[in-house]
Amino acid sequence: MIRSKLLLLASLSAVALAQAPTAKEIEKVFTDAHALYLDLHENPELSAHETQTAAKLATRLRTSGYDVTEHVGGTGIVAVLRNGEGPAIMLRTELDALPVEEKTGLPYASKVRTKDDAERDVPVMHACGHDLHMAALLGTAEVMARSKDTWHGTLVLIGQPAEETISGAEGMIRDGLFTRFPKPDVAVALHVSNDLPAGMVSVTPGIYNTNSDSIRITIYGKGGHGALPHTAVDPIVIAARTILTLQTITSREIKPGETAVVTVGYIHAGTKNNIIPDRAEMGLTVRTFKPEVRKQILAAITRITKAEAAAAGAPREPAIERYEGTDAVYNDPALAQRLRSPLEAALGKDKVVLAEPITPSEDFSYFVEQGVPGFYFSLGGADPEKFAQAKAAGTTLPSNHSPLFAPDVDPALRTGIMAEVAVLRNLLNTPVEDLRKLTATPQP
Ligand SMILES: [Zn+2]
Ligand SMILES: [Zn+2]
Repeated sequence: MIRSKLLLLASLSAVALAQAPTAKEIEKVFTDAHALYLDLHENPELSAHETQTAAKLATRLRTSGYDVTEHVGGTGIVAVLRNGEGPAIMLRTELDALPVEEKTGLPYASKVRTKDDAERDVPVMHACGHDLHMAALLGTAEVMARSKDTWHGTLVLIGQPAEETISGAEGMIRDGLFTRFPKPDVAVALHVSNDLPAGMVSVTPGIYNTNSDSIRITIYGKGGHGALPHTAVDPIVIAARTILTLQTITSREIKPGETAVVTVGYIHAGTKNNIIPDRAEMGLTVRTFKPEVRKQILAAITRITKAEAAAAGAPREPAIERYEGTDAVYNDPALAQRLRSPLEAALGKDKVVLAEPITPSEDFSYFVEQGVPGFYFSLGGADPEKFAQAKAAGTTLPSNHSPLFAPDVDPALRTGIMAEVAVLRNLLNTPVEDLRKLTATPQP
């Protein structure tokens, strides 16, 4: 009798311990998180140069009791909080801002200018909301450190540099993120946007965004006098034909209904009207959701480019170089479905919605590709009133990367902390074996 009562009490308290964060818990850390937000927003730093940003976050995390290592993969930081047996869960924020001139007119708007890597004078702005992600991570860190009786395991918080240049995640992994520090059983991140009002989050099970590939093509011809075309091989004509044929990939080769974008964003050739140049260069961006569609498109680009050059009798095969690329962020479907309920418990059932995949890209995929199941979700950033007005007028609010991007900080930051704590507590109350069973389906 006594034993069964004890067991019941234990299971009841386990449920209570795994409960949603309260508004009171968030209130206690909000002032600190908000102050960090304002400071970071006024003092943004470009990708791979986030020295002050990383130092500020590191100092605060140390004060909250985390074991902090700096300079991981450049300016990256790793903060670990050990709390007994249990899974290791990673939460990631980015550190970097963008070369954008802020035009929000906010009292805390950035006036920062700096030299970029090419020594050009550029403005700097947190136009992607990474300052909000850092502030939310700090608030979450403090809540988790103050409530160690509500979870067990290891919490790994990371500040990742250079997300905007798609190099920071890879840099941290190369510098031993998953060997020098506990390798997580799940990696979590969020991103703020104006696609959703503040106070809400959205979840996308499966593929979250697109694969992105940047391709540079150099077509070689034979230079000569513009009046003597029979003595030359004109690379401009080859390029023109190539561009048109490339546009048949999505319209003629890819199965209707599949997401596929092939854009030729630039073409450079020639110097003067009466000279046939000896080469033409063009730059492409390719966006896809499915790996097989991506493979099909990349192969088609190579085949078409080579064939058009051969058809024109080009003296050399074109050079085709994939110089940048990132894979789609994949949300483990079982994990995403499961984490909806703690989010709903914390924010309210009507505040958690399912969303379609989006086309911008992200390097969070590098963590997932190391065999770490990922949960990447969206945080509403729009002022709810302005969002409703825009919707009624059939317009949209300024997107991320816009000089006018201005999230409704107060509710968005509170919701960000609430959501992160809810997700982390749920994961850090799940036995490792159960997490592994849950996330056993491999990425397609
Ligand atoms: Zn961005
Ligand atoms: Zn971003």
